[in-house]
Amino acid sequence: MAVTGAPELLIVMGSAATTEQIDDVVTRLQEAGCDALVTPGREATVIGAIGERELLAALPLEGYAGVEQVLPILKPYKLVSRELSPDPTVIEARGRRIGDGYFGFIAGPCTVEYREQTLETARAVAAAGVTMLRGGAFKPRTSPYTFQGLGNEALEILADAREETGLPLVTELMDPRHVEQVVDTTDVIQIGARNMSNFSLLEEVGRARKPVLLKRGPSSTVEELLMAAEYIVKEGNSQVILCERGIKTFEPSMRYTLDIGAIPVLKQETHLPVIVDPSHAAGRRDLVLPLARAAVAAGADGIIVEVHPRPEEALCDGPQQIPVSEFPEFADEIRALASLMGRAIG
Ligand code: PEP
Ligand code: MN
Repeated sequence: MAVTGAPELLIVMGSAATTEQIDDVVTRLQEAGCDALVTPGREATVIGAIGERELLAALPLEGYAGVEQVLPILKPYKLVSRELSPDPTVIEARGRRIGDGYFGFIAGPCTVEYREQTLETARAVAAAGVTMLRGGAFKPRTSPYTFQGLGNEALEILADAREETGLPLVTELMDPRHVEQVVDTTDVIQIGARNMSNFSLLEEVGRARKPVLLKRGPSSTVEELLMAAEYIVKEGNSQVILCERGIKTFEPSMRYTLDIGAIPVLKQETHLPVIVDPSHAAGRRDLVLPLARAAVAAGADGIIVEVHPRPEEALCDGPQQIPVSEFPEFADEIRALASLMGRAIG
């Protein structure tokens, strides 16, 4: 359901509250010209009260049967906040899960270049035990003169790779004109770092019925990332995975600076799963494993990494892609570390 306003108050129902009591609170809110967003939790049901502050303030909410506590939502992000939904969200695509103890292991080429390159990579990452396949069809390139992706042809190749390996697909949507074909093909819609603040695109995927992997803009704060996620969730799509992929700093030794601290901060602030892209952060292969290790140890719910059969020939991001031949060892280490952190491979 799309939400027309922001929940201003949290109505925490007692653990013994009945369905009738919950329905009664919702009815009373609606009769007063407000609205309600009901979030059933493990411990208790929480109702987000939506409406003008004055209208809500006039209601004797604390006195309604079954209500334990009424609290204001102080954060600017409401629907994605932990306050509204203390239980972690689990994202599911074709039976693979990310969040609440499930570790998402996403790997594949930066870009679909040609059929064999993609299939060879897909087979290798599937054999190494990843849970989802990544691959770009429409590429956001810094230069308009470099390879821009194979577009629809790439989507067909990715669909064949899924057919063969059974892995759900993650691919980027860049342009609202491509919504239909990308959403029809993919299992998880990636919104790239450069589009994190493309609010109309965020609303577009908020209306899609597929999970969204939302990457943090290189110059965006954690709060801006959460507000971007709020754009998607407010349209009715609560299946959002957040991705830290490095931010711009003054440090030139890596492509970006992976903001490790953002992982625990995001985990505190939101119920949405948080994954890390060490490949784009590092920009160089030798740092991908150490950054991935750090991400898992900091509590990430997954990672997304780039893999190529022959990175030296790659049309995009060659220096950071892990060669297929080295990937099994990489995957073994990540799986072991994830299990040490109490995560099950999703
Ligand atoms: C990608 O994952 O293909 C990509 C381009 O990453 P980012 O949007 O983080 O730069
Ligand atoms: Mn890339």
